[in-house]
Amino acid sequence: MIKENNKTCAIIGAGVSGIAAAIRMQNKGYTVTVFEANSFAGGKLSQESKNGYRFDMGPSVFTMPRYVDELFELSGKNPREYFNYKHLDPVYRYFFEDGIVLDAYHGKQRYAEEMAKKTGDTSETILKYLNRTEEIYHLTADVFLHNSLHKFKNYFTRSVAKGLLNFGKIAAFNTMNEVNKKTFTDKKLVQIFNRYATYNGSSPYLAPATLNVIPHLEIMEGAYYPEGGMYSITSSLVKLAKDIGVEFHFSTPVREILTENLSAGKAVKKIKGIRTDNGSFDFNVVISNMDVYNSYLKLMPGEKKPQKTLNQPKSSSAVIFYWGIKKEFKELGLHNILFSENYQEEFNAIFEKKSVHPDPTIYINITSKHTPSDAPVGCENWFTMINVPNNSGQNWDQLVVDARENMIKKIDRVLKTGIRSFIECEMILDPRLVESRTSSAFGAIYGNSSNNKFAAFLRHANFSKGIKNLYFCGGSVHPGPSIPLCLLSAKITAGLVD
Ligand SMILES: Cc1cc2nc3c(=O)[nH]c(=O)nc-3n(C[C@H](O)[C@H](O)[C@H](O)COP(=O)(O)OP(=O)(O)OC[C@H]3O[C@@H](n4cnc5c(N)ncnc54)[C@H](O)[C@@H]3O)c2cc1C
Repeated sequence: MIKENNKTCAIIGAGVSGIAAAIRMQNKGYTVTVFEANSFAGGKLSQESKNGYRFDMGPSVFTMPRYVDELFELSGKNPREYFNYKHLDPVYRYFFEDGIVLDAYHGKQRYAEEMAKKTGDTSETILKYLNRTEEIYHLTADVFLHNSLHKFKNYFTRSVAKGLLNFGKIAAFNTMNEVNKKTFTDKKLVQIFNRYATYNGSSPYLAPATLNVIPHLEIMEGAYYPEGGMYSITSSLVKLAKDIGVEFHFSTPVREILTENLSAGKAVKKIKGIRTDNGSFDFNVVISNMDVYNSYLKLMPGEKKPQKTLNQPKSSSAVIFYWGIKKEFKELGLHNILFSENYQEEFNAIFEKKSVHPDPTIYINITSKHTPSDAPVGCENWFTMINVPNNSGQNWDQLVVDARENMIKKIDRVLKTGIRSFIECEMILDPRLVESRTSSAFGAIYGNSSNNKFAAFLRHANFSKGIKNLYFCGGSVHPGPSIPLCLLSAKITAGLVD
């Protein structure tokens, strides 16, 4: 079942980053085998169906589709024969308790004009801010996204050196909230731009303002909807991987990463292979897409651990209610946010009190708006999510019950409805399930949090310093979480091999 040659690579985990790494390694001439603990691919980027409703279980906002396309092009295939997506405009609909509704459009000019109409800030202020996020993006992308931060030679490339020389400009020493509060007089705009801290599970009151690049990607570069829903990213990449010869073993958790001494008498180690319940298998290269914390803890308990990196505070998690709703809400779009009245308290609850705020910001994603077959006629599939702390042993059964009540009350208040009577089926995700389904440490969705100005430097590298030919890719290592960053993680990792 497992092929033998002198260029073999095992990938542990078929998350989006693991699949992308498999495609890249196969294209490098390796014979690649993916071992996945679940019976399905995708990890967080998976789907489930119930009573005629289909739900994307994790990610719902899709940016930078070029990194998906790149994998098809690299493999000599036409991406459009596997995977299609459309541009979204507007991207978001924001709801506030005072009845104000704001649409977030694509393109900085339109965005600024629309926001200025219903807020106390001018379109010039908003435009200036967006131009600044663009500038930060161009200064930081090569430093933080496109290269390994852990290879000394990378610091001498022109673009990385430029980014580092301009470090003062990227606002690393202020928090997102400090910069946003200084820029806007309208509290709603501060809240809207603070929200982007949640894209990597952090708090805008702690995370560096460098993360204000995120709105650039969504507002200027654009957000997209994959034809058939987010899961089609996973399914099309798995099809591509199989078409070019990658072998998948599902329901096959890897139990151990096997190492041996590099040469007799020396302490330096190298990869020997992996062990599953079916036996031990030799591989030249191993790439772990499993959360790096658990890769060390569970697959290499005897190896030396980079404690400082592994012990960094972890990101937030989520409670999600996947609701089959027997009604159509014309006032809602694909992405909807119902903002908390007290954002700072909400983040304090998550990161300080490790609890759930009674007035949480609610995100409602409804793919049946674009894929009608995702719900029965006249109905909608609601992915209803709030941010919550990661799992440190809280009483989640009780927290989930309380959160459900508070969310229902808020939805009723803001949308002037009685949502309880329209819920005809339900599935629930909480941090314990994130942990058990994807081996994410503490059920944190995004690996380490970015609640610290040095967080980017404290993510684990894409390679092991102590074990030759052992690599890491995915949301828990450099450059970080989200679909595009996980695809970049696979790209950096594959680039480091050999
Ligand atoms: C609720 C939610 C909402 C999100 N929203 C967005 C969004 O809107 N946009 C966005 O871009 N990103 C979003 N994200 C983040 C994004 O989903 C992740 O960053 C990304 O999917 C992580 O991919 P990954 O490859 O690192 O790992 P994962 O998806 O965690 O996959 C890891 C895989 O490894 C497998 N595995 C673990 N241990 C072993 C083992 N020992 N042996 C074999 N297999 C193993 C797991 O079963 C899993 O399949 C969201 C995530 C969640 C959960």
